[in-house]
Amino acid sequence: MEQRIARTAWLVTFGAVLVLPVLLYLAITPAGPMWSQLSTVTGLLALSALACATILPSRLRSLTRAFGIESVLDVHRFLGCSAAILTLLHLACVVAADPAKVALLDVTHAGPAPLSATASTVAMLTLIVLAMLRSRLRLAYEAFRWSHVGLAAASLLFAGLHVWFLNKLVAHPVMDGMFAAIAALLIAVLGYRWIWRTMLDPTAEFIVQQVRAETHTVSTLVLKARTRHSGEVFDFEPGQFAWIRLDRSPAAQEHPFTIASAARRDHTVEFTIRHAGDFTKALPGLHPGSPVWVDGPHGAFTPGTGRTGVVMIAGGVGVTPMMSMLRTAAHRGDRRPYRLVVVAGRREELLFRDELAVMRTQLDLEVTEVLRRPVPDWSGHTGDIGVGLLTAVLAAEERLGDLDYFLCGPAGLVTDALDALSVLDVPLDRIHTEQFDMV
Ligand SMILES: Cc1cc2nc3c(=O)[nH]c(=O)nc-3n(C[C@H](O)[C@H](O)[C@H](O)COP(=O)(O)OP(=O)(O)OC[C@H]3O[C@@H](n4cnc5c(N)ncnc54)[C@H](O)[C@@H]3O)c2cc1C
Repeated sequence: MEQRIARTAWLVTFGAVLVLPVLLYLAITPAGPMWSQLSTVTGLLALSALACATILPSRLRSLTRAFGIESVLDVHRFLGCSAAILTLLHLACVVAADPAKVALLDVTHAGPAPLSATASTVAMLTLIVLAMLRSRLRLAYEAFRWSHVGLAAASLLFAGLHVWFLNKLVAHPVMDGMFAAIAALLIAVLGYRWIWRTMLDPTAEFIVQQVRAETHTVSTLVLKARTRHSGEVFDFEPGQFAWIRLDRSPAAQEHPFTIASAARRDHTVEFTIRHAGDFTKALPGLHPGSPVWVDGPHGAFTPGTGRTGVVMIAGGVGVTPMMSMLRTAAHRGDRRPYRLVVVAGRREELLFRDELAVMRTQLDLEVTEVLRRPVPDWSGHTGDIGVGLLTAVLAAEERLGDLDYFLCGPAGLVTDALDALSVLDVPLDRIHTEQFDMV
């Protein structure tokens, strides 16, 4: 219910930012030549899309909880690309309205309004090209992240300056008030994201309580909220994630990790992390008492309550959200059936085997272990996730469409599982996915 209200509120907010400027403009200005009108409409829509694309990835917890991080980022990408297309259409309409204005593209002679428009467009297009070519260019995540943030800020700032220098729309008090409201919204959201959450919010402060080795390549980080905020607990839903930083600065590296512990409303929280690169490889070296900053919880990869049963398909460290769901279910005495399929490359990479064996006695839980490649002394399942495997796992379930499905792991595994579930006629709205690669 709460989630539905939050969704509606966010949809209304984004809808208002997207269409209000155009509606107001059309309402207050007398009809003019078509191309001129169209150039203003496309320009306003581009600016609104850019503002919404900026708000979306700003780590607003109620937003990521309402829609899930994957949908939030999908819409962010869609609006970013739409802003670029609308900007190009705006330019085409400006030239169609008055062909002499093609001269404005000459940056050596252009005034501040066209110059700022050109700077904004170049920043926006560079940002999109870099985002699309990131893996092909093998751009390190941090380099990509900072170029993305810098180019987005430049694009937004220059777009605002373009409107300001034009002095056409802002000359009207209604439009001026509307631009001021959108600017205030952006400043509030960005201030929350870059100043409050990263530098000031005391509830983001944690200390390391323990670092536990799970395997040679996976560790669990146990964090405790700082004692001076002991009145508050870290309240999250199983399956949610948080960004972790080792420094208070907004320039510090930040990485997302799923909360692996039970949602118990207490002061500790656990993250199980694979040593993938420089940041995650440094985590096992943290000492008890080291400060850590946690921005979360975020996301909607959560099973909720009252459903008939939960099927979880996890690859590698993608088992972390499933562990949080199962630990929470055990803590709450949940009687629903849970069916977990875990896939790993090698037997040693199967995580939490002992704990899952204990949980099988506490919950209606069945665990199916799958190794990618066959090994001589392995009698269990091997190979990819397919219809055959899922049919065997779910043989006892009567109505597959009544269960909720959670998929987390490498892209290939998620795609295989989606294909198999589609063959089994599982409705799409019952399937939830979380991929550990945001970009
Ligand atoms: C929602 C979500 C939940 C996750 N949960 C877990 C978890 O529970 N356990 C776990 O081991 N891993 C998890 N990950 C993956 C984890 O964030 C990356 O492995 C980690 O950021 C790698 O950082 P690195 O510097 O050590 O490695 P790098 O070598 O720098 O990165 C390895 C790859 O991880 C991705 N990545 C790096 N930094 C980030 C970032 N800040 N944001 C998004 N992607 C990034 C990039 O695609 C990069 O190619 C999760 C990712 C997401 C998006």
